[in-house]
Amino acid sequence: MAPYFHASYGNPSSIHEYGQEARAALDNSRDIVAGAIGADASELTFTSGGTEADNLAIIGIMRANRARGNHLITTQIEHHAVLHSAEFLEEIGCRVTYLPVDEYGQVTAQQVDDAIEKDTVLVSVMHANNEVGTIQPIEEISRVTKKNGVLLHSDAVQTFGQIDLTVDDLGVDLLTLSSHKIYGPKGIGALYVRSGTPIEPILHGGGQERDRRSGTENVAGVVGFAEAVRILLTSRDKESQRLRMLRELVRFEIERRIPGVSLNGHPTERLPNNINYSFPGIEGEALLLNLDLAGVAASSGSACSAGSIEPSHVLRAMGLDDAHLRCALRLSLGRFTTESDIAEMLDILEKTCARLQKMTANNLTSV
Ligand code: PLP
Repeated sequence: MAPYFHASYGNPSSIHEYGQEARAALDNSRDIVAGAIGADASELTFTSGGTEADNLAIIGIMRANRARGNHLITTQIEHHAVLHSAEFLEEIGCRVTYLPVDEYGQVTAQQVDDAIEKDTVLVSVMHANNEVGTIQPIEEISRVTKKNGVLLHSDAVQTFGQIDLTVDDLGVDLLTLSSHKIYGPKGIGALYVRSGTPIEPILHGGGQERDRRSGTENVAGVVGFAEAVRILLTSRDKESQRLRMLRELVRFEIERRIPGVSLNGHPTERLPNNINYSFPGIEGEALLLNLDLAGVAASSGSACSAGSIEPSHVLRAMGLDDAHLRCALRLSLGRFTTESDIAEMLDILEKTCARLQKMTANNLTSV
C-alpha cells in the first residue's frame, strides 16, 4: 500500500502517466477481489466498507426498481447497516418485512417464499451473523428468489474470510464485502452487482466506479484489500479448519468449567471463529470489563454498537429472556490466536466468572 499513500501519486482518473499507474493498480486489484468470488471485474464496485456497500445495495436497488414495486424483505438479525437502510426506505414510502428467526438465529427459504408478494423487489439476508455466527441457507433462499423473479442481496462481510464462496454457488445478485474482516485496511469494501442489475448510486459526483460510486478512489485502500484477499486465498481452507478445532475446544472447556452457561447461535451451522455464550447470574458489562483488565479482548454484542448497553437486537430476535440477554459474551478467534492463548483465556474466564458469580450471590459491586 505504501507507494499509493504518497501525495505525488496520481489520481486514477487522470490521463497522465502517474494517473495511469494508479489506474493500473486499481484495475489489477479489482481483478483479484472479483476473481476471489467468481465475479467479473466489471461487477465489482469499491466502497468505503461494508456499511456503504449494504446501503448502496438496499437503497440503490429499491430506488432503481420503483417500477417493479416497493417491497423489501430482510431479517430481524441483520447488521445495522442493512436494518437502518431499510428503516430509511420505510420513511420514504417503501414497505419492509423483517422476517423473524428461530432460536438459533436462522431463517428458512420457506419463510422467504411465504413473504414474497407481487411488488417485492429485493430480499436481503446476511450470509452469517456477526454476533452469533449463525450461517443462513442462502443457496436455498436463492432458489426461491429466482423462482419468484426477485433480486437477492447477501452481506458476506463475516463469511468471506472463513468460507470458500462464489456468487454463482450462492445464487446472489448482490454481495457485500469488507476488507478489515480479512486483515486488510479499514475503510474499504466492495459491492458485487450481477451484470445487468439496475442500481442507482447513493453518492453523486464525478461518476467514478462506472457511475455507481462517485469520489476519487482510495487507491492505497483498494491495493491493501486486494493483497489481503491474495493472502487469504493461500490459507483460508486450512485456517478455517484450525479455527473450527479451536472453537470446539473452547466450547468444550467453557461448558465443562463454567456451570449454567448456554450457547447462543447454531451449534453446527456457524462461523468457524465465533463463540457466543450467555453466563446467567453474571452481568455482561462487568464480565467484559474484568476480562479486559486481565488482557482478554471480548465483546458483549456487536462491536459496531459496543459502547451502548442496549441489549443485542440479534439475541432479542432469537427469543432470549432478559436473564440471558444481559450476560452474553462473544469471543472471536483469529489468524493470530494460538492454542496457548486459548488455554490462558480459559483460565482467566473461569476465574473471572467464579469471582463475579460469587459477588452477585453476595450482592456486591462487580468491578
Ligand atoms: N456487515 C456485517 C455483518 C459486519 O459485521 C460489519 C462490521 O462489523 C459491517 C457490515 C460493516 O462493515 P464496515 O465496518 O466495513 O463498514
